[in-house]
Amino acid sequence: MYNPKSMKAEEFIAHEEILETLAYAEKNKDNLELVDSILEKAKERKGLSHREASVLLACEDPDRTAAMYALAQRIKKDFYGNRIVMFAPLYLSNYCVNGCVYCPYHQKNKRIPRKKLTQEEVAREVVALQDMGHKRLAIEAGEDPVNNPIEYILSCIETIYSIQHKNGAIRRVNVNIAATTVENYRKLKEAGIGTYILFQETYHRESYLKLHPTGPKHDYAYHTEAMDRAMEGGIDDVGLGVLFGLELYRYEFAGLLMHAEHLEAAHGVGPHTISVPRIKHADDIDPSAFDNGISDDIFAKLCALIRIAVPYTGMIISTRESQAVRERVLPLGVSQISGGSRTSVGGYQETVRPTDTEQFDVSDQRSLDEVVRWLMELGYIPSFCTACYREGRTGDRFMSLCKSGQIQNCCHPNALMTLKEFLMDYASPETRRIGEALLAAELPNIPKEKVRAVCADHLQKIEEGVRDFRF
Ligand code: SAM
Repeated sequence: MYNPKSMKAEEFIAHEEILETLAYAEKNKDNLELVDSILEKAKERKGLSHREASVLLACEDPDRTAAMYALAQRIKKDFYGNRIVMFAPLYLSNYCVNGCVYCPYHQKNKRIPRKKLTQEEVAREVVALQDMGHKRLAIEAGEDPVNNPIEYILSCIETIYSIQHKNGAIRRVNVNIAATTVENYRKLKEAGIGTYILFQETYHRESYLKLHPTGPKHDYAYHTEAMDRAMEGGIDDVGLGVLFGLELYRYEFAGLLMHAEHLEAAHGVGPHTISVPRIKHADDIDPSAFDNGISDDIFAKLCALIRIAVPYTGMIISTRESQAVRERVLPLGVSQISGGSRTSVGGYQETVRPTDTEQFDVSDQRSLDEVVRWLMELGYIPSFCTACYREGRTGDRFMSLCKSGQIQNCCHPNALMTLKEFLMDYASPETRRIGEALLAAELPNIPKEKVRAVCADHLQKIEEGVRDFRF
């Protein structure tokens, strides 16, 4: 029944296979010989199967757990360096016809005002986001074929890319909208989107049906097979995720890795990113009503094991997590974070954070400038780079860039140049001072002499007012 190559949800996320995996992991969690051999294999940095990674997740031996964290940190450093890519969510509409029991946008919630941005409002949000320094957005919307049809989403994307305010520009729009048809995915691809993101919420079919009692999202197979349709529509960067807290985390972890294995087996390219959201309080949503909440320790272990199991897949942490939790998981494998986020429709135009239409409470409420400064103080390079997708390095072409080890000659200078733009155009004096020192220290870390010289020249030209260089 289990078949990673199958295009049927019930076969590539086979419930029986997950149950057997969990039983195998439980049986072997103290089998230190096996655990050590899996850790040895993980050191080759080619990833692990869902079964192998599940054994590591179940193992509680302190020395082995420490080895998992150390390896995750090593892989993170070698594959992603100290760069952290920055983005912000942009909520377009909270109209929704679904009944997701964990989301305040569910159709029956009459307490929240329903809002949908006009194109003029989208433009104002984009100006506010550009004025913060953002170059990369993830657009978010509820599912509502009447209020938020694909034509509306496409118009918003066109508006977003068209706004050029001062030196600002949104250079990559990722899209987090409900599962849709191949034809609509093709339209999104033609509109120039970056990653198509869709969280599975839970891989457990029975729970999924209860958690999504009404609306089109109730269809588990249609939702689970969405990434296959997206790829058929030409989108080769897709982002997976589960909403931790809904189901048992070990089940979700195995399901997530099986989904990644399926994409690799069926399309030859794994997921571009994995997001790891946890349920948060929101209007009529109480996270304690869900039984499967996970501790910060388990959350950190999940992040570390995702890094080890799928080394080439980026990992995203949103402002659902606090500064302290973000700080803890950054070195374990996170490659992208949001900053200065507002999770309400139209939130960026308001001077005071509006909460009436927030999709979830934001834990990390710092400004983008504060987040950038904090990252640099921790030794990271905040990157506003969007070069890969604009250069056509998506899907397996991006993966081969990672695998060839050329990232340090490509992503590193791109990070420095886009950070320089941020420092020149948007940073506070203190952030700029710290950033300039960081740029001076990081320029020599570009291995190829020629690339280093070109990068130094571009940094000078950015100082003189030129923008948008990339490798
Ligand atoms: N409506 C689309 C869909 O169904 O996929 C778009 C995604 S929705 C705007 C973004 C994500 O927020 C959801 O996929 C869900 O995982 C997450 N979310 C919903 N309610 C949440 C809550 N109370 N706390 C944290 N995350 C939540």
